[in-house]
Amino acid sequence: MSKEVHTKKYDYLIVGAGIFGSIFAYEAKKRGKKSLVIDKRNHIAGNMYTESIEGINVHKYGAHIFHTNSKNVWDYINQFAEFNRYTNAPVAIYKNELYNLPFNMNTFNKMWGVTTPEQAKSKIEQERKNSKIEKPSNLEEQAISLVGKDIYEKLIKGYTEKQWGRDAKDLPSFIINRLPVRFTYDNNYFNDKYQGIPIGGYTQIIEKMLLDIEVELNVNYFSNREHYDNIAEKIVFTGMIDEYYEYEYGILDYRSLKFEHEKLSVSNYQGNAVVNYTEREIPYTRIIEHKHFEYGDQENTVITKEYPASWSKGDEPYYPINNDKNNELYRKYKELADQEKAVIFGGRLAEYKYYDMHQVIAAALTKVNKEFEE
Ligand code: FAD
Repeated sequence: MSKEVHTKKYDYLIVGAGIFGSIFAYEAKKRGKKSLVIDKRNHIAGNMYTESIEGINVHKYGAHIFHTNSKNVWDYINQFAEFNRYTNAPVAIYKNELYNLPFNMNTFNKMWGVTTPEQAKSKIEQERKNSKIEKPSNLEEQAISLVGKDIYEKLIKGYTEKQWGRDAKDLPSFIINRLPVRFTYDNNYFNDKYQGIPIGGYTQIIEKMLLDIEVELNVNYFSNREHYDNIAEKIVFTGMIDEYYEYEYGILDYRSLKFEHEKLSVSNYQGNAVVNYTEREIPYTRIIEHKHFEYGDQENTVITKEYPASWSKGDEPYYPINNDKNNELYRKYKELADQEKAVIFGGRLAEYKYYDMHQVIAAALTKVNKEFEE
């Protein structure tokens, strides 16, 4: 039997220096494998990227709060950074009225003056009955049937319409199958056991993962595909799966975002890391004040306004639109991907999934196990 001869320079070409690609590179290196990581952006860390501005770690692609229920995932990420005790407790502003999120006793107290869970429950029940909606046929009816008109009009309608760029009446009801409602005075946005922000930002995590691994930035795999296909035994691809297959079945849709970062000469602009603006007339959905993620006491501050945007080919893809049409399209691409022997697809773009960081970590470790342990 002839022994397999490896003649290529690298074991793995990893397309994308986000968390998926970086975990794969790190784990491969631990097992003696050599990788080249490429990214078309001018920095590593993908959407988790943070950059120090005025001594503040700015989340350049929107607020990133780490949360997970998995002890494995939590222990894994804690190898690379120390996390603080940050708990996400966003507030919503609607025409100068301020409400706590997620919907909880603080929100209900402000909205209706109720003080006990009993009172809040009966108020919501009464609102539901008043709505007289039995079979919701769009997002507006669905939301009203779940939480009533007051919360819908002040806190859901404008925000959702901005996010999707359409009237709530024209959006399908399944987008909000349920709305989390909490009958305690607890403003913690997440229910997970573990939560925090890495002290010093996220980029250091990826720097540590990619230590002593070759990285090329500002390189698009597709501009030199033939070359890259021939330098490694296998490819780990974390870009867009439809692009990988040259859109042969069609284009997968996304929603995009625009971020407007501003330095301000005040020490505390809004008193909270995340403030949602729920009126439709205000074009952004939220303002992030980054220093509050790490309890910063810098002299100045940096804020980011987040504007939802439509997406067309060439724009930054942020949120997959997992409707039937796109899911079916993705299924066809996945069928092709499943047949590949030397390409591993992973991460939010290659799997066309809205993935939080902890989910990407779990998915990457599963792929690592499959590759090296089976
Ligand atoms: P990415 O980080 O997108 O990395 C993929 C990389 O591949 C990119 O750097 C890209 O430039 C590169 N690439 C793509 N195509 C090519 C190519 N052809 N050639 C070369 N390079 C290429 N998660 C949370 O857990 N908590 C949060 O609070 C949270 N908030 C979020 C807020 C926003 C606004 C967004 C957009 C996401 C948020 N997430 C959050 C999700 C989180 O960003 C992702 O789960 C994670 O970053 C995905 O990692 P990834 O490696 O799959 O993809």
